[in-house]
Amino acid sequence: MKIIDVHAHYGKWFIPTNKNSIKDTLEIMRKNNIERAILSSSLAIIYNFVEGNRELSKVIEGYKNLFGYIFLNPNYIQLSLKEMNKYLSRENFVGLKLYSNGYINQPLNCEGHRRFLQLLAEDYPEKGVILFHCWFQSVSQLIELAKEFPTLKFIMGHMGGIEWREAVEKAKEVKNLYLEICSGYPLRNKIEDAVEAVGVQRVLFGSDMTLLDPGSSLGMVLDAEIPSEKKERILYKNAKELFFK
Ligand SMILES: [Zn+2]
Repeated sequence: MKIIDVHAHYGKWFIPTNKNSIKDTLEIMRKNNIERAILSSSLAIIYNFVEGNRELSKVIEGYKNLFGYIFLNPNYIQLSLKEMNKYLSRENFVGLKLYSNGYINQPLNCEGHRRFLQLLAEDYPEKGVILFHCWFQSVSQLIELAKEFPTLKFIMGHMGGIEWREAVEKAKEVKNLYLEICSGYPLRNKIEDAVEAVGVQRVLFGSDMTLLDPGSSLGMVLDAEIPSEKKERILYKNAKELFFK
């Protein structure tokens, strides 16, 4: 089964990971049969977003199977808008990655994020996909944004994390919201419940590599009690339709 990974990272973290290079990423992809991956920069998320985006754009250059999300920091609105204009015209940058709380100390539905989404909807509708890190206390904030920007497509990273049951329920009626499955530990029934609640078309495979090994997310899908056509949708077809039409 072919796979597209919609949640991958490039770079080091403050917790130990020993696979940090693009060579490592390509090797992990080969081993796990991942055809394409969309990456964001850990340097951009944790420390310096301009430098991180620049570094990511360099390392993915020339690879037909690697794509980028631009990371924007709502504490620097003008600089972020410039970053958007710089990268979204490039073919291999396919959307935004946004964060909340911890690293940037802003809620997900902050003023800065709204400005970014506004510009994205108006000037780059063909790149209107946003992967939001969504782990704790941010599910309802993401739902609010998804309703406010109905022409954009929102991916709920980690499916809300420890709030995934609540997330699955709340996502039912929000048709421009997709659930992405990765987390540090596999959970029984997470996939089955998500498919049942929102429909298989809105569930996406992500791994969080190279921070996490893709094995746990992949295992959750492969072991889920759903037909193999649905597994193929989650692992590949949904992402293909969303990003690579
Ligand atoms: Zn991540």
